[in-house]
Amino acid sequence: MNSVYDLHSHSNASDGTLEPRELVQKAAQAGIDVLALTDHDTVDGIDEAVAEAPGAGIALVAGVEISVTWNKQLLHIVGLGVDTGCETLREGLRRLQQARRERAEEMGRMLEKQGIEGAYAGARALANGRVIGRSHFARFLVDEGHVANMRKVFRSYLGHGKPGFVAREWATLEEAVSWIHGAGGQAVIAHPARYPFSITKLKRVLQDFIEIGGEGLEVISGSHSREDNANMARLAREFGLLASMGSDYHGPECPWLSLGRLAPLPDGLTPIWHDWQERGIARSA
Ligand code: AMP
Ligand code: MN
Ligand code: MN
Ligand code: MN
Repeated sequence: MNSVYDLHSHSNASDGTLEPRELVQKAAQAGIDVLALTDHDTVDGIDEAVAEAPGAGIALVAGVEISVTWNKQLLHIVGLGVDTGCETLREGLRRLQQARRERAEEMGRMLEKQGIEGAYAGARALANGRVIGRSHFARFLVDEGHVANMRKVFRSYLGHGKPGFVAREWATLEEAVSWIHGAGGQAVIAHPARYPFSITKLKRVLQDFIEIGGEGLEVISGSHSREDNANMARLAREFGLLASMGSDYHGPECPWLSLGRLAPLPDGLTPIWHDWQERGIARSA
């Protein structure tokens, strides 16, 4: 039997809602054999997830989703199979976490100008000392009745160019890939069909990424349509990128992204995990 892979997920170490151990249990219940925990700009949830995995009967891949600014656009680069003790990676992530704290304060001020009080304190409380992000603000705004649901919050306040949006310089593409490689991992462009790019621009990203040594494309994503998956499969073949797949699960509160419900990898692609056995990644204990 083929193993079921889900190589993109979040815990409450960043903007997911489950504790890492709860996420691992949920993944096992969903029939996943190999799960990567890929929190935004942190590896703080990994130790707990790794400890929980053998008992749950799944293999846990240490991962991260790094925020990148490429040509003034936000990109997400997933690192898979990283050594979480690598100091270069940790140092880079600390910088991004500091940028997130500064952005959050600024977002609070922007939302205050829109007549919304206490958003920074509310988001901070929801993040509970862990990595803060726009999702925490979104949850605060929904909980307080300012907006009906998460999607509308991004459309009205937190999306690019909206009144609560604060632009930041994140890592460069080179930095993100070099931190991941320095930590012994593989770099993957997350949910490639989600960016507001033309196909020409997306191809430019892939070209840059490959020149730097990036190896993977998340062909199958929980946030892709079927057509997106097919288009990204074509790009992966054209550019010779290894194929990854992941739900981008954030917890039961975000039911539009569900664990372990992914389409199979299309034919003619080399999976990113093709040599993991030899490399000792995702060994089940
Ligand atoms: P951040 O990394 O803090 O800028 O926040 C980005 C995160 O916000 C993503 O990883 C998603 O979890 C969430 N997000 C972005 N856009 C939307 C949306 N339209 N609906 C719901 N969640 C979103
Ligand atoms: Mn997120
Ligand atoms: Mn992402
Ligand atoms: Mn994600």
